[in-house]
Amino acid sequence: QTTTDLTVLGWSNFFELNMAPFAQEGMVPARVMRQDRGVYQVQAHSGRLAAELSGRLQHEAASQADLPVVGDWIALKPQQGDGPDVIHAVLERQSCFSRKEAGMRTDEQVLCANIDTAFIVSSLVGERGFVPRRIERYLTLVWDADVEPVVLLNKLDLCEEVERYVNQTEEIAPGVPVYAVSALTGEGMEETFAHLNPGKTVVLLGPSGVGKSSLINALLGEDTVKTGQVRAEDGRGRHITTWRELLILPGRGVIIDTPGMRELQLWADEEALDGSFSDINAMAANCRFRDCTHQREPGCAVRAAVEAGTFEASRLDSYLRQQTELSYLERRKDQHARKIEQDKWKSIHRSVKSLNKIDPKRRWEKGS
Ligand code: GDP
Ligand code: ZN
Repeated sequence: QTTTDLTVLGWSNFFELNMAPFAQEGMVPARVMRQDRGVYQVQAHSGRLAAELSGRLQHEAASQADLPVVGDWIALKPQQGDGPDVIHAVLERQSCFSRKEAGMRTDEQVLCANIDTAFIVSSLVGERGFVPRRIERYLTLVWDADVEPVVLLNKLDLCEEVERYVNQTEEIAPGVPVYAVSALTGEGMEETFAHLNPGKTVVLLGPSGVGKSSLINALLGEDTVKTGQVRAEDGRGRHITTWRELLILPGRGVIIDTPGMRELQLWADEEALDGSFSDINAMAANCRFRDCTHQREPGCAVRAAVEAGTFEASRLDSYLRQQTELSYLERRKDQHARKIEQDKWKSIHRSVKSLNKIDPKRRWEKGS
């Protein structure tokens, strides 16, 4: 078996430092590639191995978030004799996507870890076509996870108003790279490729049908992920994905393709995307305060309706959640725009400085 250069997989000084105490005890680092119930496939320097959680990790994990997920770097204790190797510890994460159960105060569920870049995929056409509000919500999520966003507007080959949509996207995502692409024809893929580098981990986010599998195929250059075939139906007739995997792109870093990214699509609840809270807005006309947030103001007509049982509490919840997300997004957008502005001034400042270094006599030569 050939050995694997872990730096191509994203191994860095950060993890090296975290690994040190475990390395002293004879453990080796590995990255979680795939997770099927209790069995983990991990990639170590020596190759691909099957591993299990140590009893301690299994029983003493304070929360779900302490258990390994795809993308995690772990300390592996090689097993003597046969039997799977043992995952002893999860190394500190540099970033992660997680899901908090809506409305309930439950455990944070981590979906995948140590991601550098997220491709937010939207389609330019069709039923699941261009929805700016959805892109905004994915942006919130990506910024929140400390991951770098890139927006891919797919199915360029079917769209006639590409420029308008690109401009509109750039407006809601200041400073974020936005590319119109076609997984089918390969158009625009060059720019996308530039964001895939050795040691970097990418995840694709977006609702089903926008072309994530097709894009992964195009990036891999082969039919590793069979388009539309990784899904099965669960008891409720929903489409679910039955496997999770981290794919290595030769010379290009790694892509995580997990159902996690599809679970995120459940989070982006479609109803809220239409802004179809017209019922709440209508009731709000009867709130005592015109700027009522329907949280704890006296004389709130919306809460009154909830208490009277004529309005669904969960619907108010999802409305409030959306408001929180949107105000958070506005703040992040402001920060981002400010940073771009600062960077611009920094570079102007730098060029002025270097201008000052030029011999003052020469500096005015042109103008004199
Ligand atoms: P996913 O659910 O996001 O993984 O989407 P898929 O990759 O399964 O694609 C959904 C459908 O869109 C499939 O029928 C693809 O063939 C089609 N599709 C994906 N990308 C493109 C594209 O760039 N152009 C066109 N015309 N069709 C595409
Ligand atoms: Zn109110």
